Amino acid sequence: MITVTEALDRLFALAAPLRVEDVPLLQAAGRTLAHPVMARRTQPPFPSSAMDGYAVVAAAPGERFTVIGESAAGHRYDGVVGPGQAVRIFTGAPVPEGAARVVIQEDVYRDGDTITVQENLDSGDNIRAAGTDFAEGAVIDAPRVLGPNDVALLASMNIARVPVARKPRVALISTGDELVMPGETPGPDQIIASNTFGLHALLSAHGAEPRLLPIARDSRASLEHAFSLIADADLVITIGGASVGDHDLVASVAKALGMERAFHKVAMRPGKPLMSGRLNGAMMIGLPGNPVSAMVCGHVFVLPVIRAMLGQAAVPATRLRAPLARAISSNGPREHYMRAMLGPEGLTAAERQDSSLLSVLGAANALLIRPVGDPARQAGEMVDYLPL
Ligand code: AMP
Ligand code: MG
Repeated sequence: MITVTEALDRLFALAAPLRVEDVPLLQAAGRTLAHPVMARRTQPPFPSSAMDGYAVVAAAPGERFTVIGESAAGHRYDGVVGPGQAVRIFTGAPVPEGAARVVIQEDVYRDGDTITVQENLDSGDNIRAAGTDFAEGAVIDAPRVLGPNDVALLASMNIARVPVARKPRVALISTGDELVMPGETPGPDQIIASNTFGLHALLSAHGAEPRLLPIARDSRASLEHAFSLIADADLVITIGGASVGDHDLVASVAKALGMERAFHKVAMRPGKPLMSGRLNGAMMIGLPGNPVSAMVCGHVFVLPVIRAMLGQAAVPATRLRAPLARAISSNGPREHYMRAMLGPEGLTAAERQDSSLLSVLGAANALLIRPVGDPARQAGEMVDYLPL
């Protein structure tokens, strides 16, 4: 058996980064910026008013000015402001030449074309200098997962198309005679395929393009057929059939089809049986069938691989730390990812840790990570976890 860290390193070695594509800004959210991009504009492009008010050269309480014109957003005042003069101005409008201050409208009394500055005048100039936000040529570094705020910034920089990593295409294959699809009527000995749906959701949420292939039955012919449908997938994920039971044929069929197997067993709980290799140009990961094992392996192995394919750093999932709300007993020879609840007092491991219990996983919001051979821990001790 190899450790989780070794397994991840071997997976990273198999994961090839994908080519870059340009997408319209409206499709950029959630994508990974592939190259640094540079602002094509300075923002604001001119000194602009931060408030509604009056642009003047300088102002003191009691001073009077004659209003000589107006500068609105999108329509500048073309003349020059001199002493004793004011230009009515609105937020975002260009500050006219000569003006060095905007007196906010609340601080003046207006009578016809004359304004008088009030006593408690605020001290700010209320002018945003050209380039206060960013200058032309300002860089957004890559790689970076683009969020809504980045999209707003890119738009403001006049970057209408964005270079991003192509989405990894992932083919998901459930295996097992006992499985039917949600919505179907199962036979007396059958259950509903669940992992593929959970993994599909997990992968879509993290920048991949997953696709469900038909369920493969526990026969060589059915598995071979499923593998024949992987088409242009970058990553093929099989679920189940990866153990050493009589009906666990995935490794043997994949090998017969030419897969070079990279490893088979990882010292972790849940999820011990796990394999990986390359098959017909695609990377393959064989996940265990137990629903919680498959989802945990999705978080621990598949998502970091997807991130590496997207050109992000090839690193394990980010661990956070929190205190234990309740004591836990010692851990054995495998790294344990315990389903847990993180609340105001800290982490509480679920009572039942069987790897078939999706209801327990559904109620969890964290995977409490127990290192190999970790001793018993008391409430209050700090431990690592992965947020779910
Ligand atoms: P296996 O790894 O094929 O021996 O499967 C281990 C356990 O996981 C068995 O109880 C299977 O019924 C179950 N299982 C396998 N694949 C799935 C799936 N896609 N959805 C739900 N349960 C599954
Ligand atoms: Mg099976």
